[in-house]
Amino acid sequence: MTARILNGNAIREEIYTELRNDIAALKAEGITPGLAAVLVGDNPASKVYVNSKVAACESLGLRSFFLTPPATITTSELLSLVDELNHRDDVDGILVQLPLPPQVDAKQILEAVDPSKDVDGFHPINVGKLVAGRPNLVACTPLGVMEILRRSKIPVEGADAVVIGRSDIVGKPMALLLLHANATVTVCHSKTRDLPGTSRRADIVVAAMGRPAMITPDYIRPGATVIDVGTNRITDPALAERAFAHFPERLAKFRERGSALVGDVHPDVAEVAGALTPSPGGVGPLTIAMLMSNTVKAARLRHSVRAGTAVIRA
Ligand code: NAP
Repeated sequence: MTARILNGNAIREEIYTELRNDIAALKAEGITPGLAAVLVGDNPASKVYVNSKVAACESLGLRSFFLTPPATITTSELLSLVDELNHRDDVDGILVQLPLPPQVDAKQILEAVDPSKDVDGFHPINVGKLVAGRPNLVACTPLGVMEILRRSKIPVEGADAVVIGRSDIVGKPMALLLLHANATVTVCHSKTRDLPGTSRRADIVVAAMGRPAMITPDYIRPGATVIDVGTNRITDPALAERAFAHFPERLAKFRERGSALVGDVHPDVAEVAGALTPSPGGVGPLTIAMLMSNTVKAARLRHSVRAGTAVIRA
């Protein structure tokens, strides 16, 4: 069997087309949604992520504000900055790029973001709403996975779903979204006793561990849907040989560049799975698309509330 490849870039474009219509409608009412991105210090990977988020805002016609405080910033200085953004009327969404430097209390910062502007969905109020089945702003990566499943017409209701990883930003919200969509959900982690056996029983496997190419074909029931959240830059030639043994072009590129991106799912899983997201090019593009969607949603909610409108589209 060769898996159907679920192309994240194509799904992102579908979502952008819809968002452009929503944004045009908001602009017609005099509202241009705005996203403030806070990047502390000069972590190169974070810079790449934030730049692509700002570029997405520009391509969709959203306003973006890029704030770059120095790596030496204190918790109280960053709290003041977040407070200022909370009060700005031209800012609908606030994103504080993680990781933050060690002297900054990251939890305190994330909890200081106004929940109505928390487009990353990390604030405990938004997490609580998700738990309660009344989601408002939800973490972008798991939300993106649900869009991939929905738009690819993968049945979720009644399916056995296994989520591997239990982080606050991916695994836990992922499990809740699948549960609310009526899947029977098992959450696995580093202490799970029989991970291959548990995973092999699933109709849908979501891999989010940050372990390059760990999920090999023996973890997957033939025909299952496999969503690879992992994005790992590898530099170890032995690992590249193992991951790309049947993908000579990827191996050649690795040798040329000395590094490559690979997911948590071994590329050979394409021979067993019924459907598979590639990495890169699967979940990643959806994370940014859902950030844009959350920003538009936050703007709509904030302005509707201010105008006293009762009906709010989900
Ligand atoms: P994280 O905070 O490090 O959490 C990793 C989770 O995986 C933990 O719950 C851990 O279990 C579990 N785990 C680690 N090793 C395991 C093993 N050998 N067997 C079973 N479970 C294991 O990572 P994260 O932030 O959730 O990110 C996970 C992956 O997704 C990373 O590759 C990251 O780069 C990627 N990611 C991608 C996007 C995107 O847009 N594509 C966005 C976010 C994250 P314990 O809890 O027991 O330690």
